[in-house]
Amino acid sequence: MEFAAFAERVERLEAEPADLETTAIVADLLVDAGDDLETVTRFLLGRTYPAHDDRTLDIGPASCREAIARAAGPNVTADDVEDRLASRGEIGAVAAGFDFGGQRGLSAFGDGRDPLSVAEVDGTLRELAAATGEGSESRKVDALFGLFNRCDPAEARTLARLVLGEMRIGVGEGTVRDAVAEAFLADDGIGVETEADNGEGDPTNETDDGGDGSGEVGGDDVSRASDEAYAAVERALQVTNDYGHVARLAREAGIEGLNAERIRVGRPVQAMLAQAGTAADAVDSFGEVAVETKFDGARVQVHYAPGTEGFGPRLYSRNMDDVTDALPEIVEYVADRAEVPVVLDGEIVAVDDDDSPLPFQEVLRRFRRKHDVDRMRETVTCRLHTFDCLLAGDGDVESDRDSDGDAADGIDADGDEDAPDDLLEEPLRVRHDRLVDVLPDAAADLRVVDDTEAIAGIESAALEAGHEGVMLKDPTSAYTPGNRGRDWLKRKPDVETLDAVVVGAEWGEGRRAELFGTFLLAVRDGDEYEPIGKVATGLSDEELEELTERLEPHVVAESGTELRIRPEVVLEVGYEEIQTSPTYGSGYALRFPRFAGVREDKSVEDVDTLERVAGLADGRGRSGDDETTDGAGDETNDETDAGDSS
Ligand code: AMP
Repeated sequence: MEFAAFAERVERLEAEPADLETTAIVADLLVDAGDDLETVTRFLLGRTYPAHDDRTLDIGPASCREAIARAAGPNVTADDVEDRLASRGEIGAVAAGFDFGGQRGLSAFGDGRDPLSVAEVDGTLRELAAATGEGSESRKVDALFGLFNRCDPAEARTLARLVLGEMRIGVGEGTVRDAVAEAFLADDGIGVETEADNGEGDPTNETDDGGDGSGEVGGDDVSRASDEAYAAVERALQVTNDYGHVARLAREAGIEGLNAERIRVGRPVQAMLAQAGTAADAVDSFGEVAVETKFDGARVQVHYAPGTEGFGPRLYSRNMDDVTDALPEIVEYVADRAEVPVVLDGEIVAVDDDDSPLPFQEVLRRFRRKHDVDRMRETVTCRLHTFDCLLAGDGDVESDRDSDGDAADGIDADGDEDAPDDLLEEPLRVRHDRLVDVLPDAAADLRVVDDTEAIAGIESAALEAGHEGVMLKDPTSAYTPGNRGRDWLKRKPDVETLDAVVVGAEWGEGRRAELFGTFLLAVRDGDEYEPIGKVATGLSDEELEELTERLEPHVVAESGTELRIRPEVVLEVGYEEIQTSPTYGSGYALRFPRFAGVREDKSVEDVDTLERVAGLADGRGRSGDDETTDGAGDETNDETDAGDSS
């Protein structure tokens, strides 16, 4: 595919406000992408590499501005580019505003423009990502200049954004996921409803039927992919974290091919997450509850395949970044003890001389450290606690890994009879048994109980030992990567909730486009209601449907995707922390708010007051200080280089 054709679609997507139409345009583009399907899918998300691969282009905004300035001609300096950026606010618009070399006939290839292809742009970006050492920065700028030099304005806009990883076209992962299903797995092989089907004009009609020639998305026969197809795409994404690969698999191997994807040693998956919950919630929902200590540290995924042709051990953060080099003693520990291929999920905790847990901040001093690793190893001691086993061999496994050192190749589970077992779909109990088999010393205790008193007893013991609380898990549940579902509940003594009233909403995206997806919440200040945050997490499809139905009669205004809603419906929300913030009228913002339920029993007069919020924020109501160690903490953690810490 020519890069100009890709850029033209990108412009069309940017101009398209309606979500359903966006999915159709993306699906259409995927169909037309032909041999470039993987690259086009990644580019749409502003990526060159899949999410599990922590290589980056490593090009800063300054290098990008310099390359643009050079391509724009001798009279333009990087400062000029910066000035334009200050007035236009966005690098794509700035890049599109210049006449580049190619357009002035200055291309190295003669008078005519030498068109860029998607593959060529991808190849150059990868080369540039691989450049290291002395002079690499200027080689990167040279390579980028070479690309800009051949761009027309639309291409330049797309290229600049791609290089900086911010596409700004309203295409999120959910849209791409839906589009993959609709492009390649719809019942008739292809098809989503577009406005054209209602006679309102179809942007997709302008599209050539390129690529594999399987036709346009849309048309008279409206058909959407089945739930099974969406589920297959979603699951394959969970195990591969590679939208490009999944798109190709969907096209070439269909639902069956997607379902055959397995977790691999060397290819991290997203961590399964938890919602806040109480012991009573857990007993009500699961009956039997698996209770574990909630360790106060940093999440880690351990990948190891012993043997000469093996892999690792390597350690990945919650965001799938490779943190191996910062934690040599954990690497040694795993290498010493694990005898079969494993993928384990766990937590790294800092401990004192008596092996008692230290506050989370101590782990941060180690977790992403690049310098002084040995010195810090002497200062802060780390322990690995594992609580899940996602893949395990049976003790008699030959590695089939090729020796090119590319982590992305990994070792497939279940690929042949010697291959290790993919345990993602197994119930927690089974996974835990395997965990104890493969690395007994590190495995967290798991106790299955069925009453709240027993849970309270385990929780007290965990707190007594200096841990953060307990995790309450459904012992029958599968491991669902990246999912913050109700199968894992985190129970901490300080989980606080607020009762707040819904005063606004935003329409959802993709498959949820016909439902409200985000709810603006407010607390009471005298007779007024002041916004304090938006909640979009913790709601099931049914709850969204129910809330949409409940709230729709109270909508008082709509603008774009945003709605203003008369204060009527009260929600209970959990949160990690309350911060002062200029964003909302209340002067406060909830950090990581999550839906905990509709308060049918409360009227709008009963919602929490701004006064209580102020008290909670400065610690008078209940402390939020030591709550940053899970959701919030790990996020902070993942953005913090350990080198920053004291
Ligand atoms: P959250 O990140 O908000 O979903 O809270 C759960 C976090 O607690 C996980 O991301 C882990 O980092 C951490 N954690 C500590 N102990 C456990 C455990 N036994 N099981 C699962 N997660 C745990």
